[in-house]
Order: sequence, then C-alpha cells, then structure tokens
Amino acid sequence: MECDVAVLGGGPGGYTAAIRAAQLGAKAVCIEKEPELGGTCLRVGCIPTKAWVQTAFAIKEAEETFAKLGVQVSEPQLDFGTANEWKAGVVKQMTSGVASLFKANGVEWVKGTGSFKDANAIAVEGGEDVQFRSAVIATGSFPLAPPISGLDSPRCVDSTGLLAQTEIPRRLVVLGGGIIGCEFASIFRRFGSEVTIIEMLPQLIPAEDDDAANELAKQFKKRGIALHLEKQCTGVDDSGDGMRVQFGDGESVDADLMLVAVGRGPTVEGLGLEGIGVEFDKRKGIAADEHRRTTVDHIYAVGDCAGYWQLAHTAFREAEVAAENAMGHEAIVDNRGVPRPIYTDPEIAGVGLTEAEAREQYGDDVATGMFPWVANARAVMQNETVGWVKSIHETRYGELLGIVMVGPHVTDLIEAGVVALDAESTVETVADGMAAHPTLSEAIKEAGLVALGRAIHLPNRKRAPAQA
Ligand SMILES: Cc1cc2nc3c(=O)[nH]c(=O)nc-3n(C[C@H](O)[C@H](O)[C@H](O)COP(=O)(O)OP(=O)(O)OC[C@H]3O[C@@H](n4cnc5c(N)ncnc54)[C@H](O)[C@@H]3O)c2cc1C
Repeated sequence: MECDVAVLGGGPGGYTAAIRAAQLGAKAVCIEKEPELGGTCLRVGCIPTKAWVQTAFAIKEAEETFAKLGVQVSEPQLDFGTANEWKAGVVKQMTSGVASLFKANGVEWVKGTGSFKDANAIAVEGGEDVQFRSAVIATGSFPLAPPISGLDSPRCVDSTGLLAQTEIPRRLVVLGGGIIGCEFASIFRRFGSEVTIIEMLPQLIPAEDDDAANELAKQFKKRGIALHLEKQCTGVDDSGDGMRVQFGDGESVDADLMLVAVGRGPTVEGLGLEGIGVEFDKRKGIAADEHRRTTVDHIYAVGDCAGYWQLAHTAFREAEVAAENAMGHEAIVDNRGVPRPIYTDPEIAGVGLTEAEAREQYGDDVATGMFPWVANARAVMQNETVGWVKSIHETRYGELLGIVMVGPHVTDLIEAGVVALDAESTVETVADGMAAHPTLSEAIKEAGLVALGRAIHLPNRKRAPAQA
C-alpha cells in the first residue's frame, strides 16, 4: 500500500497527525495494533481515569455539599459496577469517535504492529507493507517497573491493572507520588480505600510548584491519605491473602493492592529505528526538533515516544506540527504555554514557570500574588473554598510568567492562563481585564491584582496565606 504520510500509533499523537495530514490533502494511513483507536489516553489513561474522578466528585458532593445547600439525600453508596460501566461507556464513545473521524477524513486504519523496514516502508505484522513519503512515529509509552523484590505479585498493578479492578481494595498502597499516583490515591480514598503513598522524593508531584505540591500534601493528609515522603520501597511480601510493603528504614504497611506508578518509558524498541538512522535514547525517547523532525528529515516523532511532557495535549499539538511539516508547511511547537492539569481533589493546574523556576531565571525581579478561593463568591456558594490562584510575573516589564492554581475546576480554568502566556500578556492585562461576576474565573484576575498590590477583595498584601 502506498501513501503520502504513514503514522505509526493511533493515540492522541498518531490519530491527530493522520487527520491533520489528510486535511492538508495527504493520503494518510495510521497503523495501530490495539483493537480500538485512541491509545493510552482514550483506552487506559486520561479518559477512564477522569470518568472515575467524576464518580469520586459526585460522592464528595453528596457527602459534603448537598445537605449544606439544602438538598437532602441519603448517605451516598458507591456502586462500583455501575461506575465501571459508566467509565467503559465513556471510553467506548471516545474511541469510536476517533474511528468515525478517520472515516470522515479518509484516513485508512491499518490494523497490526508496525516496524520500519527501511526509510520509506513500514512492515505490518500479518498485513501489507505501507510505503510512504513521510512518516510520523507516535508509539507512546509504557509503565516502568522498578527492580524491587516481590513486584511480580498479582497484587502489584500498574495504572492499566488498577483501572481494570472490579472491587475496591480495602487497603491500597500507591508507589510513586507523581501525577498518576496522586490522581488514583485521591480517587480511591473517596471510593473508601485506606490509601498510603510512598514517594522517594521530598514532595508530591515533584516537578510542580512547591506551594501547590504542599497544599496537595496538606489536603491529602486531612482526607486521611497516609504520606511517606523521602522513603524508598524496599520489597513486597505477598502472603496469599494480603501483602506487606516494606519501605524506608525498616517500616512496613499491610495492603490488599499496590499501584506501581513510578513513571513511564518511551516505546522506542522493536520499531526498526536503528536500521533507518532515527536516533533515540531508551529513557528519553526519540530525538526530535521543534518541527518534530527526527534525525531522518522526512520522519517525525510526536507524543510520549519523543517527549518530555507525557501529556495528551502536547501530543496533539506536536502532531499537528509534524503533519503540517510533512505536507510542506512550516510549523514549530511553542512550549511556553503548556497547561499542567492534575485531577486530584483538590485539583491543581499550572502553566508557564513555577515560582521557583521564575526566581531562578529572574532573581529578585519576580512578584507573585495569591488569591484564596475563600474570597471568591462562586467558590463559597459551591462549598469549594480550599486552595488559591497564584499569579507570577517579572517586575521589569510586568510580563506574566506563570499561573498556578489549586482548587475547584482549575483544570478547566487554566486555559485563561494558557492564552495569556501565549499572547505574552503582562500581569496588568490579566488584572485590568473584566471577569464575569460571580465566577471562579474572577480569581485569576484577582490574583493579578494581588500581585500588583491592588487587591479589592482582599486586604492589600502580595501573598495571601494558603488556605487552612
Ligand atoms: C493513568 C493515566 C492517566 C493519564 N491522564 C492524563 C490526563 O489527564 N491528561 C493528559 O494530558 N495526559 C494524561 N495521561 C498521559 C497520556 O495518556 C499520554 O500522554 C498520551 O496518551 C500520549 O499520546 P501518544 O499518542 O504519544 O501515545 P499513546 O496514547 O500511548 O498511543 C500510542 C499508540 O501506539 C500504538 N503502538 C505502539 N507501538 C506500535 C506499533 N509498533 N505498531 C502499531 N501500533 C503501535 C499503541 O498501541 C498506542 O495505541 C495519562 C496517562 C495515564 C497512564
């Protein structure tokens, strides 16, 4: 089979590249080995996880908010079977949506496992070879398993294994306090599990803004999640009806299930890359420039197999750029405005620099302003006053450097920060603009006002204290 653009992998990076290339007139082919399109994100990542987050949020509303607002319901009970049906239904709708988009755009899905035969052909196991003019590699990532004794126990699962559970574990240990670990810890605590997080580094979500990570740790502790930071897991003993997880200096915790979420590695092996001169590193993935070009000019790489971010939306954008370049256009990826959503309770979202990064780059020429949700009318009426919005700017020209938020619906709100950063806005632009009242989004403007020392709805101070 011959085509203009062949895409290896049908996740967010792959399906977006195929559709964008087809929009630009290419005969585009996408090779995907799983029975559904959508990749990790739609099948076993973002979508099913956030369907559970939604169930957890519904329980929280019923437990903590309905009665306060005058809505009497009986005590909420989790029907896990129905929650899983809901999750599966959402996944099905999304994955079949991608198949329909392929049809609508004339993208051909070749089912099977592909590997490069040469620099212009991909061999598909059990199928016809695909000859191409340009190719986009979008093979994604896989969960890493650390070398800890006992991890081969069936009670130790990765995120895919946890998503497949049909019963709630009474005691869940989460190995790794990164984004995936914290999201599942948050969900399962709300589902009723006793949850323990073991993390090697001194803070949860190590790459995130310190204030946000500390706020999350504080709220997790309040919710009864046990945190063991700066502790290494040393071994797991499965006794048959339970397991003991060893960590730190002779400490241990008993559990029924352990989620191993210590990071994901790029899928780069077995693709025939060595034979065609596409450079890659087993840990960092495929080397690609801002055009998403690899070391072979007409071959591009996008998403988790070639990325630092490991996010669906960075894969989407990289894929658009790769497809446009493959079709003779000139496009680059601008990474200044990458939103960092974390769907824990409370939610976290950031864009641009963290405060520590800003201070490292701009020294004393940095000002911040924090606006707590307790001073926002919409948050108060929603009974969601934990957290704050932080605005970070440099003081010479007032350029906005970052926005970090912890609290209600911040993963939706962060888009305002993305647009502001992409437009190279100043903090005045954010602070002087109008925000609809009463809304949660007012807190972004208000954080800008605090940073400028012009707060109206707070006593004037640069940094409001973090919410208790
Ligand atoms: C539990 C979990 C929750 C997540 N939540 C979020 C979130 O909320 N927001 C967010 O932005 N990101 C989230 N992510 C990350 C997100 O899923 C990934 O960043 C995203 O899926 C990357 O897209 P991709 O196209 O690069 O790779 P993938 O989605 O992994 O897709 C790669 C595809 O390539 C196929 N493939 C691989 N090799 C071959 C081959 N040789 N031949 C044929 N097909 C092949 C695979 O089967 C797969 O379908 C989450 C991840 C996990 C695990």
